[in-house]
Amino acid sequence: MIQKNEEFEVDVVDMGFEGEGIAKINGYTTFIKGALKNEKVKIKILKANKDFGFAKLLEVVEPSENREEPICPVFSKCGGCNLQHLVYEDQLLLKTNLVKNTLKKSLGYEPLVENAIGMVIPYNYRNKAQYPVADGKIGFYAGRTHALIENEKCFIQNTLTDRLAKDAFKITQKYNVSTYNEKSCEGILRHIVTRIGVNTNEIMLTFVINADELPHANEIVNEIVDLYPTIKSIVANVNKENGNVILGKTCKTLFGSDFIEDELEGFRFKISPLSFYQVNPVQTALLYTLAKDMAGLSGNENVFDLYCGIGTISIFVADKAKNVFGVEVVPQAIENAKENAKLNNIQNVEFICGKAEEIIPKKYKEGMTADVVFVDPPRKGCDQKLLDTLVEMESKKIVYISCNPATLARDLKFLTDNGYEIKEVQPVDMFPQTCHVEGAIMLENANNR
Ligand code: SAH
Repeated sequence: MIQKNEEFEVDVVDMGFEGEGIAKINGYTTFIKGALKNEKVKIKILKANKDFGFAKLLEVVEPSENREEPICPVFSKCGGCNLQHLVYEDQLLLKTNLVKNTLKKSLGYEPLVENAIGMVIPYNYRNKAQYPVADGKIGFYAGRTHALIENEKCFIQNTLTDRLAKDAFKITQKYNVSTYNEKSCEGILRHIVTRIGVNTNEIMLTFVINADELPHANEIVNEIVDLYPTIKSIVANVNKENGNVILGKTCKTLFGSDFIEDELEGFRFKISPLSFYQVNPVQTALLYTLAKDMAGLSGNENVFDLYCGIGTISIFVADKAKNVFGVEVVPQAIENAKENAKLNNIQNVEFICGKAEEIIPKKYKEGMTADVVFVDPPRKGCDQKLLDTLVEMESKKIVYISCNPATLARDLKFLTDNGYEIKEVQPVDMFPQTCHVEGAIMLENANNR
């Protein structure tokens, strides 16, 4: 039996979902943060469960030829990135293999998975950042714990808004705005959230507060606007709930507009503080273009865009569809979606606010169907009631956009057991330097070609 604090020298034989190295000690699976496949490493057991354990990397005895010096000085502490020590080409390979292996395990065979499409410059790509604050500090959480790791700059964030967040925090501290304590649930400022439309340079800054008002709001806003005169929107978001959810439901505009706009492939999108918008605009344009190509629309199709957010996919594909019906659960996002259709002069789209698993079965019963369905669910994947309806409906094609291979594999297993065939699997690297994997998958209905 392996014990805590025992030390070993091991060969790393694989990589896990979170970018950890995996070694076997006499068959006992051990996860080692910071270790890479094909390395020989010295480790110390931190936690030994019955079937698997976690170990600390003490020393890399024989490094992998794909190991790289991480660009960020706090990489080993911060919970944000977990692959900076692996050369980028190999990050892509790792993600491709992760999709392959996860699908194979669930489906019982390995569908053809294309190589993940990477970025030319895989840094500073994020248009949105959510910085926790605590005890006079701003940074990111360590990962498994909420210890706050400060960083002078974050190498995956947009450079300008990364600086803005830190300047804005300094200003709140000058006015002695207290920071929230997760244990006592006291204190006001919880998070600073930034968002930038990288193709419009429109910036939104959100203070998430455990109070109805941000103290010294006027003075703080004035100082920020002096430093960043082009800022488009400053918002206070009220979140008085305990727990890990970052944003509350109420937003109060402190300065400027209550939305920003971004541009993607010639379309313009309004984005509210509570609306989802993909964090990597370069790869998003690519992903949506790919998804549209996969759908192979001719202009005669009825299309569903489920989990539609602010209507991005609907608007992308509208010119090649007869009509598009988008469903999304967040009311502000649906408001944005409707405005975005107008903004882009698109008439053949309709948006409804509600849960996809409730709206679609109901609409289907009323006789509404789709030839092509786009689904782009959150990490937990599609609800079973929605999948049941998609199977009954026998749409010609489903284009599934996924940010979580595990739930993707579960949903594809059900769809392929019930009349659909996987035709294309294309991972796209939306989150370089991290272990997150995104991809577009096209399925065709075997009865309906
Ligand atoms: N397709 C959009 C959004 C994808 S993110 C884009 O590319 O920008 C997933 C979206 O699903 C989020 O906007 C989230 O609010 C929404 N959502 C989560 N659960 C849902 C449900 N049960 N029904 C409909 N939408 C849901």
